Amino acid sequence: MRDFSSGPCPIALNTATLGPRASLKDAVEGCLRHGIGALSPWRDRIAAIGLAEAARLIGDAGLAVSSLCRGGMFPAPDAAGRRAAREDNLRALDEAATLGAQSLVLVVGGLPSGSKNLAEARRQVEEGIAGLLDDARKFRVRLAIEPLHPVYAAERACVNTLGQALDLCDRLGAGVGVAIDAYHVWWDPDLSRQIARAGSAGRILGYHVSDWMVPTASVLNDRGMMGEGVIDLKSLRAEIETAGFDGPVEVEIFSQNNWWTRPVDEILSAIVQSCRNHA
Ligand code: ZN
Repeated sequence: MRDFSSGPCPIALNTATLGPRASLKDAVEGCLRHGIGALSPWRDRIAAIGLAEAARLIGDAGLAVSSLCRGGMFPAPDAAGRRAAREDNLRALDEAATLGAQSLVLVVGGLPSGSKNLAEARRQVEEGIAGLLDDARKFRVRLAIEPLHPVYAAERACVNTLGQALDLCDRLGAGVGVAIDAYHVWWDPDLSRQIARAGSAGRILGYHVSDWMVPTASVLNDRGMMGEGVIDLKSLRAEIETAGFDGPVEVEIFSQNNWWTRPVDEILSAIVQSCRNHA
């Protein structure tokens, strides 16, 4: 297991961590000030300044782009909706390739509006990813399926465990893998076995960290800084690294009433410190 206690930590900053007020430029400059070497931008931050300018800004700073957030949202009530989803995912792939992102994170989508058919939603997710794979291979961007905590099954993602995501990968073949987010998977009794399985299949494309607060005020926007909550992040990273993952640890904290209210430099200092001590 890599030693994070001294020297620079291999951190990737997910831009959402700085909150809705921070721009891509704020994130890039903050990374440089705090010795963070990689960025995982959200597409709205790219769109705000345009793809070419975003690529220039990140490239000039010498930052790696670990992943682009996000594609997915495949299920839709009708064919036109699914076509629109595909077109949006193609744009996301183009953006990821232009930014040099190693993967496009897929938040796959939940139930289409008006539907109670979860099995059909899951079928549409598989069909959506399968329909995107040739394009992803052409763009040389890997698709990283991110299983989300089951509480999100209706609205955000009907892929809810690492095992389920890996079953999908097995059926889809090359070019697709998983983003393992500690916040979403820490509770899973089958997690250790599935991490080992993901590693031996070469499917681990990203590892995201934050912490699970007790009590949790909001499952969407009350994530903790590493060490503030109950996830045994060091043990989790040990398992993921034992499985072969050696990429940056992506810090992704949605914290509307706490961290997002703080200045960028305070958030980034806390990230570096808590990665050293707790991640
Ligand atoms: Zn994540």
